[in-house]
Amino acid sequence: MAELRNPPGTFDVLPPDSGRWSALLATFARVAASAGYGLVVTPTFEDLAVFQRVGESTDVVRKEMYDFADKGGRRVALRPEVTASVVRAWVQHRPPTPWKTWYAGSNFRYERQQAGRYREFHQVGIEAIGSADPDLDVEVVAVGWDFYRAVGLDGVELLINSLGDATCRPAYREALLDYLRARLGQLCDEHQARLEENPLRVLDCKKAPCRAVVAGAPRQLDHLCEACAAHFARVVAGLDSLGIPHRIETTLVRGLDYYTRTTFEYCAPALETANNAVGGGGRYDGLVEEMGGPPTPAIGFALGVERILLALDATSAAAPAATAPLDVFVIDFAGGEAARDLSAALRRAGLRVDRAWDGRSTKAQFRAADRAGAPLAVIVGPDEAAAGSARIKDLRDGHERSVAAARVVAEVVDILRPTGGTG
Ligand SMILES: [Zn+2]
Ligand SMILES: [Zn+2]
Repeated sequence: MAELRNPPGTFDVLPPDSGRWSALLATFARVAASAGYGLVVTPTFEDLAVFQRVGESTDVVRKEMYDFADKGGRRVALRPEVTASVVRAWVQHRPPTPWKTWYAGSNFRYERQQAGRYREFHQVGIEAIGSADPDLDVEVVAVGWDFYRAVGLDGVELLINSLGDATCRPAYREALLDYLRARLGQLCDEHQARLEENPLRVLDCKKAPCRAVVAGAPRQLDHLCEACAAHFARVVAGLDSLGIPHRIETTLVRGLDYYTRTTFEYCAPALETANNAVGGGGRYDGLVEEMGGPPTPAIGFALGVERILLALDATSAAAPAATAPLDVFVIDFAGGEAARDLSAALRRAGLRVDRAWDGRSTKAQFRAADRAGAPLAVIVGPDEAAAGSARIKDLRDGHERSVAAARVVAEVVDILRPTGGTG
């Protein structure tokens, strides 16, 4: 029989490595909740049109969409990102604004397999819909910043730019087009062919020919209207006030068409790759309208789970989740009843408990207890079973005591309770 394997471009996350994964998600949930963001869960697939609205000229929509016709003949797509789904949900349900949400989940892109690129990848993010206040931009950037600090990823660099709005961007786009048309032959092949479609994408092209041309190109920051300039100044002042270091990067445009005004990226120099971004986002003041809603400003970011874990690996930072996975391991070589009943009783007291199965030998059970990393073992052999007692062994120092079976839960709780506190 052929061996069954995970599909190309996907991967499994197994314990104990998944402990870092769940710790990262828990930290994100905590940081987002601390700023008033609530969990939003949207479908993993949507009507293809939902994602086409984010921009027909982007690679995400043009080349990488994981779309297909389902058995009912509907054109659907596995989501390439979550923002479009969240905006679709807001337009559909119209919750009161400002609507502040966070999410965690899988995204998909269909492309040729290459190192470090997955067809299914994972992001956490927040979206705040319904406010144009520049201080909200500061809050959003700060939530991401605080999250990186909370997971121990040091050295993150924040790049920030303004892309203007419907008032000032068209004139800038023309100025940029004029400049690039005059140098068309010097651009990379792709951008020679696709310049007219989206000249802004040339700005963040990583290829040497485009980079050389872009160095002298007109900058959106010099073409902002008064309102956009004031907005950007307020955001920069806010970041200064919060002590969040940042670098203004005038070529930062991000990969999606819908961004307006504030655009930002978090980079981890530890990754040492051409693209070392570990997250990014920005304002998308026009997207709600694109999705069929009323004109409604909004801002958000998405952070890459795999890339953050890679960056943590590349720094000497301690990985998240260094806590012991278990509190107690129950060792029972007197028939198994104590393991069955004591494990349940200890778990009901709020402890993390595991045990061995299949009547393993005493030695095998002690080995399992060591591997499990629990600080305490509760041991029941034939003598203890006959006497209605159990031994509690501290696996850290070998200290052992015998207690009545009925006292085991209270004793274990007492031993594990942190000392020095008031409770
Ligand atoms: Zn290029
Ligand atoms: Zn403007």
